[in-house]
Amino acid sequence: MSVQHLIISMVCVFICLSCQERDQVYFDASFDGARLGAVKKMGVDRYEAQVRPAFEPVNPSPWYAFTVQSEKLHTIQLKLKYGKYQHRYIPKISSDGNHWQPLDTSLVRVDTIGHSATLTLKVGPEKHFVAAQEIESAEDTFFWAKQKAKENPNSQLEIAGNTVKGNPNYVLIHEQEKPKDFIVLVARQHPPEIPGGTIGFKSFYETLLSETTTAKEFRKHFNIYAFPLLNPDGADSGNWRHNANGIDLNRDWVAFSQPETQTVRDFVDHKIAEGQKIRFALDFHTSHSGPYVLVLDSINEVKTKKIIPNWIKNIESTTSLKVEVRRRSQELPYCYNFFYNTYQAEAVTYEDGDEDNRDTIKERGRIYATQLMEVLLEKSAKNEFYE
Ligand SMILES: [Zn+2]
Repeated sequence: MSVQHLIISMVCVFICLSCQERDQVYFDASFDGARLGAVKKMGVDRYEAQVRPAFEPVNPSPWYAFTVQSEKLHTIQLKLKYGKYQHRYIPKISSDGNHWQPLDTSLVRVDTIGHSATLTLKVGPEKHFVAAQEIESAEDTFFWAKQKAKENPNSQLEIAGNTVKGNPNYVLIHEQEKPKDFIVLVARQHPPEIPGGTIGFKSFYETLLSETTTAKEFRKHFNIYAFPLLNPDGADSGNWRHNANGIDLNRDWVAFSQPETQTVRDFVDHKIAEGQKIRFALDFHTSHSGPYVLVLDSINEVKTKKIIPNWIKNIESTTSLKVEVRRRSQELPYCYNFFYNTYQAEAVTYEDGDEDNRDTIKERGRIYATQLMEVLLEKSAKNEFYE
């Protein structure tokens, strides 16, 4: 090696060492809801991490959630490698874990051939959250539910059953008197589905519990039972879809092999045994092609009290919203089919879209809840449930 080459090599080593000193970046995926594979440093300010599901087979919904911080303020590139899956969710960022915004699309480079997405992230001494959707742990949802129960004298939060890991599974109860008609809400069987499963659901529920004339009248006639997070184990483990046994809960409503689905079935059976009548059920989800509602197939729809068609007609005639309806076979082992097949209660799967504007999701929840209450009250006033 010539002296000139030796000097160049020494300078390079010096630059690299200085860069490494400047470049102390820390990733943390050890909290509830987090998920990120091992992070590898690929060069100055360049990192790679694997994003992998806990269980397979699984539908393509790669969930990632972590915090990142560094000693000094600078910019890094993080490549998320999805293996055989494709990038799906626009990254959401937050400095406090409560207020979120989508990462600007110019800072996300998706490679559909290489199955990866490279994020450009500003990092610094302040910890920043990065996640596929807003992070909502079981503690977050159940804290919200506790608040809701405190706000209303006829509400309470009860442990309805346990999960696979032995964690409590809660139901939010609103009972003004018994026996009477009731409706059931089930939320977030699928952990990443925060838009509909958490944001849409909460807005819907809060509208049912609001102080509008319609809501107050509704609660005089209907009790409300809501499971605000049916899959807390999956949510806290950062699972893409499953519970802690690797089961997709929304395919378990015929087999009832899991404690989470058994909890809902047993609870509803108990309410019916008390002499109450179930009149409607909703199951809250999120899809890349939402918003829409899954409704009963047309063969079964003719046998019903037509709550769903009237509800949709009301939404479309009183607002500018158009309701996209999709029909599914009543044979599928989905939650909403269980409510119809077992109790002949009309039911829907309520889907928001992955990247729908969050205020629009909340507004949709308010409108759909209000119009559902109107239709159920009308049926109740005409005694149509008892024909
Ligand atoms: Zn879902």
